[in-house]
Amino acid sequence: MRVRNKPWAEDYIKQHDGIVVLEPSQNKGKWEQEFQHTNRPIHLEIGSGRGGFIQGMGTKNPNINFIGMELQKNVIVSAIDRVKEAEVENVRLLHENADQLSDIFEENELETIYLNFSDPWPKNRHEKRRLTHQSFLSQYQQILKPNGKIVMKTDNQHLFEYSLVSFSQFGLLLEEVTLDLHATGDPTNVMTEYEEKFTKKGMPIYRCIISNHK
Ligand code: SAH
Repeated sequence: MRVRNKPWAEDYIKQHDGIVVLEPSQNKGKWEQEFQHTNRPIHLEIGSGRGGFIQGMGTKNPNINFIGMELQKNVIVSAIDRVKEAEVENVRLLHENADQLSDIFEENELETIYLNFSDPWPKNRHEKRRLTHQSFLSQYQQILKPNGKIVMKTDNQHLFEYSLVSFSQFGLLLEEVTLDLHATGDPTNVMTEYEEKFTKKGMPIYRCIISNHK
């Protein structure tokens, strides 16, 4: 996502300690304590962008605790505003890179991981950067509970096909594959910013649900 530089973003993030967890590795193994309602499942979105999905999911599912992880400071500031305005107490944000996942989460700590419109990295030499590369899958498998889920949505056919092969080669179970999410419909679906944009253009949205087993 290309965005204008916001020189104030770093300070803004620091001022929102509470919505943003500034030192997430300190929560490793005890994430439930971060939330008002402990003993509820924790769902993580990687690359949460401007936060529409994680805020929408938090509002719609008060019995689940949500964490949105976003690398870019100029983007996460919009997610902070959304979470703040919606006053959702079950959503936290992390300004972190997904390659640090196992420093942040303990084994079996998460119920679901969402990958929404992840960067496609179309060049072969950038394969390792795709969030469905084997090296990421082994981290997901570790931090997900047995039978935990990975839910992926994208408009990008190449990334989708690559990911299906990658999941399957890694030995994860393809539970559901949808080639046009909005044609089949799912009343529980919460749209992301990218999803709104691509759907308005009439593009199909691909989704797959993957089940973890160890
Ligand atoms: N999920 C949002 C944004 C999609 S764009 C939506 O659907 O509207 C992909 C986002 O993933 C970008 O904001 C990018 O900064 C973030 N991202 C890419 N690689 C990441 C990584 N390794 N860790 C965390 N976030 C990442």
